[in-house]
Amino acid sequence: MEAIKRRKFLVTSALTAASAVFLKGCLGNPPEPNAGSGGTPTPQAANLTPETTPETPKVRLGFLPIFEAIPLIIAQEKGYFAKYGLTEAVLSKQANWGAARDNVEIGAAGGGIDGGQWQMPMPYLIHEGLITKNNVKVPMAVLAMLNTQGNGIAISKTQAGKQIHLDLAPAKAYFQQLKQAGTPFRAAYTFPKANQDFWIRYWLAAGGINPDQEVNLLTVPAAQTVANMKTGTMEGFSTGDPWPARIVKDDIGFMAALTAQIWPNHPEEYLALRADWVEQNPKATKALLKAVMEAQQWCDQPENRPEMAQIAAKAAYFNVPAQILEPMLMGKYTMGDGQPDIDDFNMAVKYWKTEKGSVSYPYKSLDLWFLTESVRWGFLPQTYLTGAKTLIDKVNRSDLWKEAAQEAGIASADIPSSDSRGVETFFDGKTFDPENPQTYLDSLAIKKLA
Ligand code: CA
Repeated sequence: MEAIKRRKFLVTSALTAASAVFLKGCLGNPPEPNAGSGGTPTPQAANLTPETTPETPKVRLGFLPIFEAIPLIIAQEKGYFAKYGLTEAVLSKQANWGAARDNVEIGAAGGGIDGGQWQMPMPYLIHEGLITKNNVKVPMAVLAMLNTQGNGIAISKTQAGKQIHLDLAPAKAYFQQLKQAGTPFRAAYTFPKANQDFWIRYWLAAGGINPDQEVNLLTVPAAQTVANMKTGTMEGFSTGDPWPARIVKDDIGFMAALTAQIWPNHPEEYLALRADWVEQNPKATKALLKAVMEAQQWCDQPENRPEMAQIAAKAAYFNVPAQILEPMLMGKYTMGDGQPDIDDFNMAVKYWKTEKGSVSYPYKSLDLWFLTESVRWGFLPQTYLTGAKTLIDKVNRSDLWKEAAQEAGIASADIPSSDSRGVETFFDGKTFDPENPQTYLDSLAIKKLA
């Protein structure tokens, strides 16, 4: 009897779970009644025509629980995917970047994902078969940038008082002492040869510290960084919010730098899908872009940020209390170790536009910086610099972004006319001119060309 009851319970639970998934798909996962602060209702479906109706209502997108993912989360929770006909869009939380890579290689048909959120230049490395199993090339399409800023470098409390701040020059002697003592400073990123690795390397090298010789670099998944710093696995790490700021909140360490300080309005993470999905589903690709663009515009309204914190806080997404997320989303950072606090919305994560231009538009000049920085550290051979334009023209689909923006009625002022964002300037005064990446490489004292 007990067994039958139990069995019945299991069946009922399974049915409930199945209908929950079904509802989520059909209704575009409307916000829970108590999810937000009573904000916007689920939008009406867009007036879809044969030209704009997606070829498929399905798309499976991978995400990681960091601020970069919020436009995808908002597009789902606010019903923007459903509005543009992607009524069966699914967000799939990835355990780490390696899992995301493996899942896009499998594709949704094989139980993986069609694409989603990526650090740069991961879509290029996957496209080229440089980080896939057996070096299989999985052609990719870069569709939009998800965000700028909202990342940082956190340092363990054990390193307090050593001047490990934005300008590292005063700490150089200390780094050398550690190295000579056989206990070099250990710094972690969430995946090698991508954003987080680049931010920590740029910061170290700008302070005169050679990341390949004077420190130990290691990989730790974003969600494990707090636990690993607590147990003393590393002294510093670079990752997306909210994880670095948790370190300060939990009194485990302090912030050395925000990426917003290292390179204001820097390129961060991107929306990219398998190129075969994009080719088979051009209208669905534009529907996806329209939904993400609408979410990005919603995200950049300061008055929406408290509700955004409530939504991202949910267990299915960050599983972190909203009150920890909200200050960072408003540009409020406690830096610690005697540094002044930051309270400036300009320093917060941004999703739609900044004074430097569009955030969402995938400027090809920024892809070129990622490829150039890959050459700087010997991750890619120097031949990639000469071949960069051809490769970027193949992978970067800014053409689709523009078409989607026009169809969505985005103001022409918000649709960039050029694929170049122009000259970029870093905190140490170095500049990157996309017209001449070699000059940038030549200007850098610390590098490891291959
Ligand atoms: Ca990031």
